[in-house]
Amino acid sequence: MERQQVLHMKGGVGEESYAKNSVIQTTYLSKSMSVLWQALQDLASSNLPESVTIAELGCSSGPNTLFAVTEITSIICKRCRELGRPPPDFLVYLNDLPANDFNTVFKSLPDFHQKMQEKNGPEFQPMYICGVPGSFYDRIFSSKCLHIVHSSSSLHWLSQVPPELSDKENPVINKGKIFLSKTSPPAVINAYKTQFQRDFSSFLKFRSAEVIPEGRMVLSFRARRTPDPTPEESCLLWDYLGEAFQDLVAQGLIEEEKLDTYNTPYYEPYTEDIKAEVEREGSFTLDRMEINVAPWDGVNGGNKYERATTAENMAKAIRAVNESMIESHFGPEAEIMDRLFQRFIEILAADTREVEHVGVVVSLIRK
Ligand code: SAH
Repeated sequence: MERQQVLHMKGGVGEESYAKNSVIQTTYLSKSMSVLWQALQDLASSNLPESVTIAELGCSSGPNTLFAVTEITSIICKRCRELGRPPPDFLVYLNDLPANDFNTVFKSLPDFHQKMQEKNGPEFQPMYICGVPGSFYDRIFSSKCLHIVHSSSSLHWLSQVPPELSDKENPVINKGKIFLSKTSPPAVINAYKTQFQRDFSSFLKFRSAEVIPEGRMVLSFRARRTPDPTPEESCLLWDYLGEAFQDLVAQGLIEEEKLDTYNTPYYEPYTEDIKAEVEREGSFTLDRMEINVAPWDGVNGGNKYERATTAENMAKAIRAVNESMIESHFGPEAEIMDRLFQRFIEILAADTREVEHVGVVVSLIRK
C-alpha cells in the first residue's frame, strides 16, 4: 500500500493515542506562536475581506489540531477590535491524509465553537470548519482561495520512502537502520535529501496556486541546525529504534531482509536547504526563519523524571506516530510491536546520551 494510504497517527483519545502522546509537538507549536503573531499583524491591519480562509495542514487529531486556528482567529479579532472594525468570519480547512481520525476531530467541534464564542466575545463571527482529506504534496484547494496556511510538525514527513531505497530489484541498503545514521552510505543520504527537495518544492508549487497574493504561510517542522546530515540530535532516537529492530532479527522474530527494506519517510532538512528551495521555487518570500528547540525530556511535559520513565514516554510518543507504518511493513502481530518498543525502552534507558530536539519555523509571504 502507498504511504499516503497507510500513515496516520494513532487515533482516538486512549492512553496510546496521538492525542495523549503529542506533548513535544505542543511545545513546538507554542514556541512558533510569536512568528505566527508577527505574520498576522500586517495581514490583520490591511483591508481584510468579510471572510478569511485558513488552512491547517497535517492537522491530525488531538489537542494540537485546532491550537493554531484558535490563535489565528483570536489574533485577527483582537486586531479588528483595536482598529474599530467588525471582525471577519472564518472558513477553516482542516487537512490531513485520508486515514487520519477526522471523526474524533469532528466530534470535538461543538465544544470548540462554544469555547471560541466565550473567548472572543459576542461579536465573534461564526467559524465554518471543513475536513479536507488528501496529501499536501498534491493540489487540495481551489485557485487563490487561501489567506493563511499553517502547518506544524508535519512537513518533515516525506511523500514516500526515497525510491532508491524501496526499489524491488536492487534497493540501496541502509544496513540495520530505519532512518539516516552515521553508518548510512552516501547514496542513502543523497536519496533522502533529493526526496525532500522534490517534496518541499511540490508543496510550495501547489500552495502558490492556492494562496492569494500577500497571503501568509507559517510552517513549523523538524529540521537541522548543522550541515552535517547525520548529527546525533537528528539520529539518536532512530538509532535506538533501529537497534531494537536488530534485536528482533537476532531473536528470529522478523527477517533480516524485512528490516533491510524498511525505511522511514521522514527527513530533517538543514535550514539553509529550506531557504534554497524557497528561493528556487520562487513564489514566496521568506519573511522569517527561527530555530525552536525542545529539551531532551520534553515528552515528560516539563517534569524531571528518571531516565526509565523518560524512555517509556518516548516509546509511547514514537509508537503513536510510527505504528501504522511499521504494521503495514512487518504485519499486524501485536507481539512484534510490543516487544519492539519494550526493547527500545531498555536500550534508551541503558544509555546516558541526551540530545535536544530541533525544529524550525518559517514565515512565508506569497509574492
Ligand atoms: N499538526 C499536528 C499533527 C502533527 S503529526 C501537531 O502539531 O501535533 C503529523 C501529521 O501530518 C499527521 O497527522 C500526518 O498524517 C500528517 N501528514 C503527513 N504527511 C502528510 C501529507 N502528505 N499530507 C497531509 N498530511 C500529512
